[in-house]
Amino acid sequence: MRIAIIGGGAVGSACAMFLRKFDARAAVDVIEPDPGLRLASSARSAASIRQQFSTEVNVRLSQFGLQLLRDPDAWLAVDDDKVDLGFVESGYLFVAIRADGAQALRENHAVQRACGATVSLLTADALSRRVPWLRVDDVQLASLGEGGEGWFDGYALALALARKSRALGAAWHASPVVGFERRDERVRAVQLADGARVEADAFVLAAGAWSRAVGALAGLDVPVFARRRTVFAFTCPQALPRTPLVIDTSGVWFRSEGHGFIGGWSPGASDDDPDDLPLDEPDLAQFDDRVWPALAHRVEAFAALRRTHAWDGYYEVHPADHNGLVGLHPQCANLLLACGFSGHGLQHAAGVGRGIAEWIVHGGYRSLDLSPLSPARIAAGRTLVERAVI
Ligand SMILES: Cc1cc2nc3c(=O)[nH]c(=O)nc-3n(C[C@H](O)[C@H](O)[C@H](O)COP(=O)(O)OP(=O)(O)OC[C@H]3O[C@@H](n4cnc5c(N)ncnc54)[C@H](O)[C@@H]3O)c2cc1C
Repeated sequence: MRIAIIGGGAVGSACAMFLRKFDARAAVDVIEPDPGLRLASSARSAASIRQQFSTEVNVRLSQFGLQLLRDPDAWLAVDDDKVDLGFVESGYLFVAIRADGAQALRENHAVQRACGATVSLLTADALSRRVPWLRVDDVQLASLGEGGEGWFDGYALALALARKSRALGAAWHASPVVGFERRDERVRAVQLADGARVEADAFVLAAGAWSRAVGALAGLDVPVFARRRTVFAFTCPQALPRTPLVIDTSGVWFRSEGHGFIGGWSPGASDDDPDDLPLDEPDLAQFDDRVWPALAHRVEAFAALRRTHAWDGYYEVHPADHNGLVGLHPQCANLLLACGFSGHGLQHAAGVGRGIAEWIVHGGYRSLDLSPLSPARIAAGRTLVERAVI
């Protein structure tokens, strides 16, 4: 069996690694024009992992991601080299200031607990006892991860997955896909910019925020949009203990990062969120206009913070429901999608790679059923809404 994977970020690399793990005879080609991942989301993310989703399949994908982060050598070591992903276990803290937000936290909590996640709902008083430096007088309810959450080195994870896939025998091509050969509802081959042609029995589209553009080369609609997000790094003169990853109701988030902090803002449904803004142009005004005021409101000491640097990257947004598209494209019998994770794809890369490989090698999902994420829901007009989007 021959499989070609388009895109070699964390998701494409995980697909390649698991394909070779499950079937050492499978010929696996990874097509990645930028093996250093300069623009890839996998290299530009906030690289955090949480159990606190509203969708069961997302909680379960995080649980597998966690297994890999807690024991990276078992999954990713090559030639007995140690793999350091810098995993810091620390919770996420969602804060609700309105009744509807509090109700959403309660409903999400029920899903998470049913999956075995250790998450506590806290009143303002209880929150104040746990996190005394946080302003709580406007808080109706909070949700704190008590384990299985935290952050890690996302770039190191993506590179380790790529390295392991190579060690297991995947072949890499450093040139972009520029065309598809399709016949009878199937893709026969892809053409690369360097003139190469890669034939395969199955193709996986894992090109992150570029998946829509690549799908268009095959004449297929892939509703995944590149939406720029900026991450701001800052320090605070007053020492605070290590903070959880706090998600304020305004869409502003922050967490500890080394001796300082990082934070940012995710637009809500009613905010302007244009496609394809250029990268390497972080929106610095956003910090002064939105992020800093919300930070200083929630943590008094942040009134005196110093912004040190900023970077940007693309969320690969599937706007219909903010959940990934995993499985066969409804209009193509051998093109699988693995994209559209809407800002939570790094923590789910391992689980998605494992699922795609099971589907191709074994003809179906074995360890975790990813069919809720099937792209068939697009054609059927169904959604699987993830409410806990950051
Ligand atoms: C600021 C920010 C914060 C984030 N925070 C988190 C977080 O805390 N936790 C989390 O889980 N996720 C987070 N994410 C999301 C996460 O980074 C992505 O979901 C994940 O990295 C997607 O991985 P990927 O491999 O699908 O895409 P990418 O890493 O973007 O890889 C896609 C690859 O496709 C390649 N490609 C493009 N065009 C072509 C072509 N024509 N042919 C072949 N290949 C092509 C690109 O070169 C690229 O390397 C964040 C993202 C951003 C931007």
